[in-house]
Amino acid sequence: MPVSGGADIKWAEVLIALGGSILMGVATLLFPVLASRSFAGGAALVSVALIGVLRDGSGGSSGGYGVIVIVPVLWVALYGSRRQLWLRLAGITAMFVIPLLALGAPQYPHAGWRSTPLVVLSCTLVGTVVQELLAREQRVAERPQASHDRSAEILSTMREGFALTRDGVIVEANPALSQITGFPREQLIGSRQPFLFWPPEMLEDLTALRERIHASDGGTFQTTFMRADGARFIAETTAVPLHDADGSPAGFLNSMRDVTERVSAERALHERSEELAALAKVTRAVAHADPAQARETVREMAVTISGASSATIWDLAEADAAAVVASFEPLGTGTGVFLPDVTSAPAAMRARIAGASAHLQPILDGAKLIGVLVISWASATNGLTPSEASLTELLAHEAAIAIEKATAHAELERLGRTDALTGLPNRRVVEDVSRHEIASARRTTLPLAFAMLDLDHFKDYNDAHGHPAGDKLLRAVSANWARRTREADLLARWGGEEFCLLLPGCDLDAGREMIEELREVVPDGQTFSAGLVAWQPGMTTEDLVAAADQALYAAKRGGRDQTAVAVSVTLSAPPVIAAVRGS
Ligand code: GH3
Ligand code: MG
Ligand code: MG
Repeated sequence: MPVSGGADIKWAEVLIALGGSILMGVATLLFPVLASRSFAGGAALVSVALIGVLRDGSGGSSGGYGVIVIVPVLWVALYGSRRQLWLRLAGITAMFVIPLLALGAPQYPHAGWRSTPLVVLSCTLVGTVVQELLAREQRVAERPQASHDRSAEILSTMREGFALTRDGVIVEANPALSQITGFPREQLIGSRQPFLFWPPEMLEDLTALRERIHASDGGTFQTTFMRADGARFIAETTAVPLHDADGSPAGFLNSMRDVTERVSAERALHERSEELAALAKVTRAVAHADPAQARETVREMAVTISGASSATIWDLAEADAAAVVASFEPLGTGTGVFLPDVTSAPAAMRARIAGASAHLQPILDGAKLIGVLVISWASATNGLTPSEASLTELLAHEAAIAIEKATAHAELERLGRTDALTGLPNRRVVEDVSRHEIASARRTTLPLAFAMLDLDHFKDYNDAHGHPAGDKLLRAVSANWARRTREADLLARWGGEEFCLLLPGCDLDAGREMIEELREVVPDGQTFSAGLVAWQPGMTTEDLVAAADQALYAAKRGGRDQTAVAVSVTLSAPPVIAAVRGS
């Protein structure tokens, strides 16, 4: 190692210098700051110092290489603490003094003693001045740190969770954040993406969201997070980008608010409004549509509300439905019954329900059970939620109105087709039934007879016995005749003291026979005249009525208490009255 111009190396000095250098190296290794900054740099400095010492150790006192040791001093002053600097200075002093004391003159003449304090002094001066300058700069730099501390203090009083992120790492978090997430602050601070409160199933979404935030300069989002105990919660987070004084990005200030309750309240409200809309639809349908349509709407809404596969209404006006329901006691209580397993229900009921599970909601008219709203699920289910159940109850209430309306409609309809005095069908029914019978006669080619019957001199009867007696006679005639006719026949009151008779399957002879039978049961010695016609292809109800009426007229003219038959009926010309038969 050519360390001096021709001078011999004194190995004792080298060993001493080496020892000092090793001391410096060990000191470097002991202080992690130096080691971490650059271990290689530290080692290089050690060898530079070694060269300086060896140069002086060679006895060439005027070399001045010792000053080179200022380099490691500078290093420690820059990166080390005050204590480390003084340690280093002490080491250097020892390094220079120990060879002087140990070897002495002539190897170390006066020059050696002179240069040593110089080296130590300049090292001390440079080291301390550099450290002082650094400390001053540090104080200036700490000012933002102080303001950062104040912000942290403010954040700590806030109920909203806050986190300061920089390069995907949480560098600050307030107590509220750890309260919301359940993770201690120490665990949150320093943690990096994916954060502790990111649920595993949301990793992908949240990573994408975070990327979007970085790309779009912040924003507000609603996402699902996870507490330390694993429970999920919904949070509203806002990320605001931060910038340094020079405008360069300095991370994000993120706030987090637990909005689980608010969201579930909003959802409940939303569901409620959907339910109310469904209910309003049913109410409207029940109010305006015909009862059949209303029941259809109730069924549809029951399916919509419950998510079931089907819904149906059992009307207890139907005998078999009433029997099934009567055999099932739980429905008697008037509250809904859930059948988790339909197969365990009574056989008759099971046969009527298409599904694995079913909910039976009684339809009540006051306290009277008038029907059942049956909601069924194709596969087994847990039944209705409380809100669905209360809504189903309301639906059943609407169904009750629909059933009542349907019953009232049917009654009105029946009344509209029934003669009030005699209870016989009225002429509206004649028109409907005859149309039907004409069609069937055309199809089957079976005969069809039609007759008009009119009490004789009824006006006189009224006059003689009074109008109420006339009414009584009309009722008695009706009842007697109704008993005599077959089920397939139609006996109707045409109006006043006039009746009509539609006899499917009867030709003129059979018709005449039937009329003669009726003569036998007219009370109080009264008589009637009849006009009979047999249906022929092409004839309408009006044609039948017109022909029978003309025959009746003929019977009256013929002396009453007889039947006239209309034969050779043509549709364009009046019928020819072929036979008049007295009683
Ligand atoms: P004809 O033999 O020609 O049929 O004589 P009629 O008196 O039966 O016939 P007309 O048409 O002159 O009179 C019919 C009478 O029937 C008049 C009316 O007072 C009576 N009448 C019609 N409807 C009712 C009713 O609902 N109750 C009662 N008591 N009488 C009725
Ligand atoms: Mg008359
Ligand atoms: Mg009459």
